[in-house]
Amino acid sequence: MPGHEIVRQLVMAFDINALRVKPGTSVDLSTIDPDSTPQWSDKQSGDVSNKEAGKARVLELNERLESLQELLYAEGKHRILVVIQAMDAGGKDGTIKHVFEGVNPSGVKVAAFKAPTSNERAHDYLWRIHQHVPANGQLTIFNRSHYEDVLVVRVMDLVEKDRWKKRYDHIVNFEQMLVDEGTTIIKFFLHISKEEQGQRLQERLDRPEKNWKFDSGDLVHRERWGDYQKAFEAAIERTSTEDSPWYVIPANRKWYRNIAISEVIVQTLESLQMEFPPAPDDIAAMTIAN
Ligand code: AMP
Ligand code: MG
Repeated sequence: MPGHEIVRQLVMAFDINALRVKPGTSVDLSTIDPDSTPQWSDKQSGDVSNKEAGKARVLELNERLESLQELLYAEGKHRILVVIQAMDAGGKDGTIKHVFEGVNPSGVKVAAFKAPTSNERAHDYLWRIHQHVPANGQLTIFNRSHYEDVLVVRVMDLVEKDRWKKRYDHIVNFEQMLVDEGTTIIKFFLHISKEEQGQRLQERLDRPEKNWKFDSGDLVHRERWGDYQKAFEAAIERTSTEDSPWYVIPANRKWYRNIAISEVIVQTLESLQMEFPPAPDDIAAMTIAN
């Protein structure tokens, strides 16, 4: 079957709800295969033609996203917040680069959250986050987020348990407030295997053009892999709500990860049924004189 026909067959079938974590369900990441390609093609995920068809689909979705983002900007009514979390080398940067390729930079922002500065640490943990949430017509991508405050902070004991354990409820309430005020929130966990992380970190050592990404601190976190998986499970379980859902994306295969995330974003934006603002009344009678 030619590649484009495979694409057509698979296009309509992608049910994003299959990746969505329903409120109140428990999450066991060990039961989700990071190599799998759900809603795309479970049987032939290793097939080369399948991968090629997948890449073609990403390009199609990318064009759709470009149009939707223009509409978002023109309408100026909705605010879109995309949160991306993953282990180191989980593909956060690559996702942003590929999924948002070609969107109009005027309406899209990326906020990356590093270890807090001393000024940030002198405030509550949501203070630095709130400053970066999207305004009307904007789409903002969080590369890491307030979730670090229940992930790295929990695993590495950066604050005492009595303090971080209350944060799940703060986060749910904070996000609900944003939603109630007009923000649409979509949260992604990029799920890779420890082996895949090992290969990606090794590549950062082996390839000169990737050396800059190598951070020996990543190895400290890698040693705590199991604890991080538990921390992610807790965070996802406790903060995936009807209005602010988490999607767990099997992310060992980058092309599949890009399809799945694009599908979720495109379908979510389509569900908003945005419209271009009405033309001014007198526009039909106008012509531009030369
Ligand atoms: P990178 O994304 O590779 O540039 O790394 C950013 C680093 O900042 C990661 O090691 C994160 O765990 C760390 N980081 C981000 N937010 C926080 C936070 N709230 N507390 C402590 N460390 C953080
Ligand atoms: Mg890093």
